[in-house]
Amino acid sequence: MITNKQIADAIFPNITLTIEDLEKKYPLRNLVAGAEVTRFAPSPTGFLHTGSLFTSMICRKVATQSNGVFFIRLEDTDMKREIAGSGERLIEQLKIFDVVPDEGYFGDYEEGNYGPYIQSKRSEIYHTVIKYLLEIGLAYPCFCTPEEVEAIREEQEKLKVNPGYYGQFAKYRNISNEERYQRIINGERYVIRFRSEGNHENKIKVTDLIRGEFEIAENDQDIVICKSDGLPTYHFAHVVDDHFMRTTTVIRGEEWVASLPIHVQIFDAIGWNKPNYAHLPVIMKLDENTGNKRKLSKRLDSEAAVSYFIEDGYYPKALIMYLMTIANSNFEEWILKNNFEHMEDFIFNLNKMSLDGALFDMGKLNFFARELFAKLNKDEITLFAKHYADKYAPELAKRINYNPHYFAEIMNIDREKINPRKDYEKFGNVLDIIGYFYQDLYEAEVAKGLPFNDRFTKEDLIEALVAIKNNLSCEQDEQAWFNSLKEIGAKLNYATNTKEYKANPAAYKGNIGDLAEILRITLTARKNAPNLYSVMKVLGKDESDRRINHVCSLLVK
Ligand code: GLU
Repeated sequence: MITNKQIADAIFPNITLTIEDLEKKYPLRNLVAGAEVTRFAPSPTGFLHTGSLFTSMICRKVATQSNGVFFIRLEDTDMKREIAGSGERLIEQLKIFDVVPDEGYFGDYEEGNYGPYIQSKRSEIYHTVIKYLLEIGLAYPCFCTPEEVEAIREEQEKLKVNPGYYGQFAKYRNISNEERYQRIINGERYVIRFRSEGNHENKIKVTDLIRGEFEIAENDQDIVICKSDGLPTYHFAHVVDDHFMRTTTVIRGEEWVASLPIHVQIFDAIGWNKPNYAHLPVIMKLDENTGNKRKLSKRLDSEAAVSYFIEDGYYPKALIMYLMTIANSNFEEWILKNNFEHMEDFIFNLNKMSLDGALFDMGKLNFFARELFAKLNKDEITLFAKHYADKYAPELAKRINYNPHYFAEIMNIDREKINPRKDYEKFGNVLDIIGYFYQDLYEAEVAKGLPFNDRFTKEDLIEALVAIKNNLSCEQDEQAWFNSLKEIGAKLNYATNTKEYKANPAAYKGNIGDLAEILRITLTARKNAPNLYSVMKVLGKDESDRRINHVCSLLVK
């Protein structure tokens, strides 16, 4: 008679390790009481999704605030879906957002005592556990061909019962060890399945740190734990890895709630303690066409990919801060009170998370982005812009690198003061905002026509501009500069006092605001621009005069 042990040896002749060996090799972590061990476990199958940044940020936070450990594990067992280089890219992108693990997979290297942290290198560990399950009869090889699987599905459809591989439909569950042995010796292809003792009619109680305790149907499927290529499935690898890596808190997307009964069953069958689970709600978005909530979609929404924010020149911390408002509803008030600083002191709480999928709100992200950019000093913002532009925005890079000092002065307008301007939310569109400081972009704007108030004739405009050119210097402080502008206005009959002007507008050509607007439009080709004195100072007298001449020459044409 062939024993389970003989089957296990026939399948894994080279596995000599035991579960006890592994327990010794990966001992319980020596951490302070309450320390949480969290992990982010991406698959290298594409780009970093905004939802994954959300998850990993929370994992990082939970570990940090409990003096625990956050590690990254690369889940690369689906060779067919793997995209070369995406694992490394994911790590690089997380780093941009300051989500850096304490141990695990770092892209081009691994570090830590609980590795390997790349699943494809962990076969010996999985096989050791599977060999044990085979020996105790909790796993068996299944030789189903695709045709047999299809036949089972058809029969279940006919009988109107649940689909899947379970109970009476589990064709290879109860064949004899003799038959198993023979098929293995014959070189037939097989997968290895977990033998479920569960019943779909039974409800089990599970606990989730966000949802609390709830009931869910027990698993009755004999799920595949090892594929025919020898690699484990997600369900099995999750249990084995989070056990031997000593994860205390599994934080993952809510799409995994449905398979929780499988994971619980495997943990219990082997007799291992289960980690705590927190299944995070998915980030949603209001569909512009239907007006309904839907998941952020890779296909439809550029903001579903973290790369979008990087390539569009967002300040990484702004996205993290925004995501934290989704994670904990009390965060927003907290960070406003703390003047957008020391986010690390905020105590995050998994049970303060809302279960409704939060709506991704670009407007709110932009609010954080503007606030944070406004807090940077001129060197910090210039450096950020330069790094960004050198990598992603050649037009901008050309201009910054040609004259970094000039760019820094532009960035410094109305900055480093109590109420700084909040102009910038990202650098992807910054030339739309500051382009007029550059001659070619300025002239292109002017060529489209200038928005002067048509109350003023060409002669009025030229008269005002020439007077300004001849008499207004920006080599003085702002108050003196403004007084000069008023004097120029007074001579040309622009009211310098709003009250007087309002009392009798017909007596004047306009008021001082009109005069400033004429100058503003001339220098910037737009009606809205920051502080005119600063703009003129950054442009310099020569360039300001040149612009006045340019506009006057167009006006006389
Ligand atoms: N590799 C899985 C995924 O990318 C990980 C899920 C988990 O965190 O356990 O969805």
